[in-house]
Amino acid sequence: AAERGVYNFAAGPATLPLSVLQKAQAELVDYRGSGMSIMEMSHRGKEFDAAIKKAEADLRALLAVSDTYEVLFLLGGATTQFAAVPLNLCASPSDPADFLVSGSWSDKAFKEAKKFSAASVAWSGKEEGKYTSLPPFDAIKQNPEASFLHICSNETIHGVEFKGYPEPKNKSGILAADMSSNFYSKPVDVSRFGVIYAGAQKNVGPSGVTIAIVRKDLIGNAQPITPVMLDFKTHADNASLYNTPPCFAIYICGLVFENLLAQGGLAEVERKNAHKAGILYDTIDASGGYYICPVETSVRSLMNVPFTLANGGDFEKQFIAEAAKEGVGVKVTPTGSR
Ligand code: PLP
Repeated sequence: AAERGVYNFAAGPATLPLSVLQKAQAELVDYRGSGMSIMEMSHRGKEFDAAIKKAEADLRALLAVSDTYEVLFLLGGATTQFAAVPLNLCASPSDPADFLVSGSWSDKAFKEAKKFSAASVAWSGKEEGKYTSLPPFDAIKQNPEASFLHICSNETIHGVEFKGYPEPKNKSGILAADMSSNFYSKPVDVSRFGVIYAGAQKNVGPSGVTIAIVRKDLIGNAQPITPVMLDFKTHADNASLYNTPPCFAIYICGLVFENLLAQGGLAEVERKNAHKAGILYDTIDASGGYYICPVETSVRSLMNVPFTLANGGDFEKQFIAEAAKEGVGVKVTPTGSR
């Protein structure tokens, strides 16, 4: 957002490309000669139908998502998927599920899943290093009877990111991932996953839409208690139009996908992200302990760079105040809260 004189370092909602905002602005009142705004149009009309289909096609092209997966545009945020995943993948609330708890988001997913499955912690990074590392994958205690292994591919608050993915060693061989904060930040082999979900607002659009990429054979087995809106089948059978979807948010995501393709795709996006994150990590590491990033080097996130100041509280307040004067928005997590 340098073009706009601000540097948005907050984790999200994130800065969108200026060209995307300008295109949306130009089309806001009169969408492509229709005389209406896209946010005023029927979600079953031809204009929105074309917009959602194009968004899905570009999303699929960027990650090479095969036809064996459904792409669902959902409401309720990634937080709602914390319940939807066990409701759709477990036969009953007594069915076991494994959770790798690498930070506060996967901990929230685990706690919610306990209501709808016999969820257990296959590994936790809390005691080991206050969520600053990931385990060697053979140290994950997987239950062979589990219905899935759940990970958070990038812990937004703790800055821990998977660079490879564990092999699910459960009865169905399913890996499920909350990718909210590194979705579309780099290429990912979708075929490794049964379910990927992400709130759009971190990397691909405004808040209001959650995207799920679900292997087709996993759809249609939801627990009988599953609310209709949380059943993947409801949305798969109705092309994400069972009820009124977040039309404007989906339209903006579509513009972002076009932009990502025009940038050269996700390999190029990853290269840029590595470059930007590298500038921050290099500065932190070269500061002689003035700035501290607690995360183990091998799992440092390219999306979220947590750091503290060696001298703590007062220096951090001063840092934030001076950063604001330079147009730098910084997400503040009080020291000691991790
Ligand atoms: N998971 C991760 C990794 C997140 O960063 C967030 C952030 O907000 C969430 C889940 C919750 O997403 P939502 O606000 O879309 O429910």
